[in-house]
Amino acid sequence: MVHTHIVLISFPAQGAINPIIQFAKNIKRMGVKVTILSSVFAQNRMTKASSSTPDGLTFVAFSDGYDDGIKLSDNQELFRSEYKCRGSKALSELIKTSSEEGCPVTGVVYAMQLQWAAEVAREFNLPSAPLWVQPATIFALYFYYFNGYGELIKKICDDPSCAIELPGLGKLTSRDVPTFMLPSNTFSIGLPGFKEQLDALDAEVNPKILVNTFDALESKVLRAMGKHNLIAIGNYVEWLDSKPQSSVVYISFGSFFNLPLQEMEEIARGLLESNRPFLWVLRALGDGENQEDKLSCKEELEKQGLVVPWCSQVEVLSHPSVGCFVTHCGWNSTLESLVLGIPVVCLPQFTDQPTNAKLLEDEFKTGVRATKNEEGIVEAGEIKGCIELVMGDGEIGEEIRRNAKKWKYLAKEAAKEGGSSDKNLRAFVEEIEGGF
Ligand code: UDP
Repeated sequence: MVHTHIVLISFPAQGAINPIIQFAKNIKRMGVKVTILSSVFAQNRMTKASSSTPDGLTFVAFSDGYDDGIKLSDNQELFRSEYKCRGSKALSELIKTSSEEGCPVTGVVYAMQLQWAAEVAREFNLPSAPLWVQPATIFALYFYYFNGYGELIKKICDDPSCAIELPGLGKLTSRDVPTFMLPSNTFSIGLPGFKEQLDALDAEVNPKILVNTFDALESKVLRAMGKHNLIAIGNYVEWLDSKPQSSVVYISFGSFFNLPLQEMEEIARGLLESNRPFLWVLRALGDGENQEDKLSCKEELEKQGLVVPWCSQVEVLSHPSVGCFVTHCGWNSTLESLVLGIPVVCLPQFTDQPTNAKLLEDEFKTGVRATKNEEGIVEAGEIKGCIELVMGDGEIGEEIRRNAKKWKYLAKEAAKEGGSSDKNLRAFVEEIEGGF
């Protein structure tokens, strides 16, 4: 019998790397041989990132020409074409050498942006599936945009006073949609990129899309999108820890976004006014400059809390002392907050983050969205107010903390043996074994 051997290919950004590692560990537990093909940068991140070493996984790296990582200021088109060209070659070579070595590749799972991986898989007659690392809700919004609801969605994007309803998504306004959909969008990726990805999936006979979520979390939208084969597989249960004692505020804006200094100053003052201990991740800027040094109240801050350049976020969120997560609402951070039962204060910045913030506030009800002033800044008083609402004694805070605990439980249920994500993943592995 041929052993199931799945090659996973990650997009080289932290937000895409962590779910691939998690996915790899989960299918490895099911007896699958897993090889992770990635750029040199992504591999360095994978092997030293997260809280636990990815034991027993095979890593194969190729140079995409950006061994120190891609920056927003780099030419994205050039980067994508280099990544495609060098990645396709590396994948073909990996498939050939694995066969020669007696452990042939039987399936390919790739980050949704990397359609070239599906093309290579087809050349070798192998089944493949993309991994979508944002919520099913975002997939659905983009999907609807290109399948009959484009005009309706444009209406809310152009007019902030307008609201619409979409299947499985409920009521939406311009505040709730990914920034890629708004007229203010300046990125060339987003919608056009998604359209290319959807079109590429048309080449597959029975496409499956793996989504980093779980059934109970986005049940309405997963049901609404069911016929399009979204499969919920996510969990971070390994990191579940004992109950939080709710004293520390943890603040992080993800792996690449940096707040403008004025907004950092507001957060700093909000934290000081809240008078609670905090752990704040402030990464060094590209030129190595320390962001904390720029803050006017640095010394007072140091008396009250800890500023670090990076941490293992999952470990932090698992720690019993953490009681609140001030987050930019990246989907990984969103899932980690839910799985670990930590209430949130949402300060979404761009891309899927506004929608994720809406989900957290209106659907999952585990936090509040901070409101910006007329200049688009969240002021110190607002930050303090949100933290108090989430961590304080009032009824709203209690309700939020109850909901956070509920999701922690439901996430665990989804991931345990026989749970929805576990079942979905096993069924997927069996289908790969049968060649779809
Ligand atoms: N992360 C971390 N330590 C940090 C900051 C971030 O481990 O100090 C991890 C975090 O746990 C998450 C990922 O980096 O898994 C960030 O992904 P997310 O989708 O939240 O945001 P992005 O970086 O894509 O904006």
